[in-house]
Amino acid sequence: MSNLRLCIQKGGRLSEKSLGLLNQCGVSVSNGGSLKAEARHFPLEVLFLRDDDIPQAVQDGVADAGILGENVVLESGKKIDVVEKLGFGRCRLSLAVRREESYDDTAWFEGKKIATTYPRIVESYLREKGVSAAIEKINGSVEIAPSIGLADGICDIVSTGSTLLSNGLKEVETILRSEAVLVKHPSLDPEKDALLRDLVFRIQSVLKASEFKYILLNAPNEALETIKQELPGMKSPTILPLAKEGWSSLHSVIREDDFWERIGRLKDLGAEGILVCPIEKMIL
Ligand code: ATP
Ligand code: ZN
Repeated sequence: MSNLRLCIQKGGRLSEKSLGLLNQCGVSVSNGGSLKAEARHFPLEVLFLRDDDIPQAVQDGVADAGILGENVVLESGKKIDVVEKLGFGRCRLSLAVRREESYDDTAWFEGKKIATTYPRIVESYLREKGVSAAIEKINGSVEIAPSIGLADGICDIVSTGSTLLSNGLKEVETILRSEAVLVKHPSLDPEKDALLRDLVFRIQSVLKASEFKYILLNAPNEALETIKQELPGMKSPTILPLAKEGWSSLHSVIREDDFWERIGRLKDLGAEGILVCPIEKMIL
C-alpha cells in the first residue's frame, strides 16, 4: 500500500501547529530537521517545504496534500482543492497607507503604487472595486516601502497591527481573512483518496472537540427540568441519581463560546459542584 504524501511548512509559523494537529489525530511525526519523515501509526509521509512551494508540489502530484495558509493558496493560482479549514494561523491581508494620509475609500488607490508580496490577490481585489493601481511585487520588508519612496501604500499580512504602527502606517482595508487549510491534489487515486478521507475525519473530530467542553454538575431533582434546557448536549444529557436523597448528577457537553453565560445561569438554577473538562475527540 502506498503512503499518503503530505507537505507542511518547514521551520515557519505553521510548522509546530501542523505537527501538533497530526499528533492529536494519532499520527506522530518526528521532525528531526530532515526534509522527509515517515509517520508512525498511519501510512503517511511528511515533506517539509517552504510554504510558497507547497501549492506547486500538490498541483504536480509531488505531494498528495498539504497544510498552508489560505493566503498562499489564493496567491499561487494553482489548481488544488481546499478540503478543510484548520482553525489556526489566523491572520488578515490588509491595505495600509501612511498615517498622515486622509483616506476615505479604495478610490484613494487610483493611479497609486502598492507594494506587496501578494500581487495576484491585490489585483483581483482592486479589479472588483474598479480601481486601477500599479502593483510592485516585493518579497520582504513590505512595510518599509512607503517610507523609502518605493510605493504609496502596501498590502501585507497583519495580525496585531504593531508592525504597521511602528512603520508609520495605518490599516485602511482588510482584503482577505486567512487561516491554515488542508489542500489536496484535484484527482487523487482511490487508495490515497481513502487515506486522505480517513485523515480528514480524524481532523474534524479533533477540531469539533475543541469547540466543546464536557460538564458534570450536581442539582436538586426539582431543578433538573430547567437545568436540562440549558444543557441539551449531543442528544440529551445523562442523569444519574446521587447517593444523597433528592439529588442527581447531570453530564453533558457545552459550547466553549457561550460557556460562561451558561455557567452563570446554571448556578442561579441551583447547580452545584460544577466540573468542566476538555474533550479530546468528538465523533458525531
Ligand atoms: P517560508 O519560509 O515557508 O516561505 P514565510 O516567511 O512565507 O515562510 P511565515 O511567516 O512562516 O511564512 O507565515 C506562514 C503563514 O502563517 C502565512 O502565510 C500566514 O498564512 C500565516 N500567518 C499567521 N499569522 C501571521 C503573521 N502575523 N504574519 C505572517 N503570517 C502569518
Ligand atoms: Zn513563504
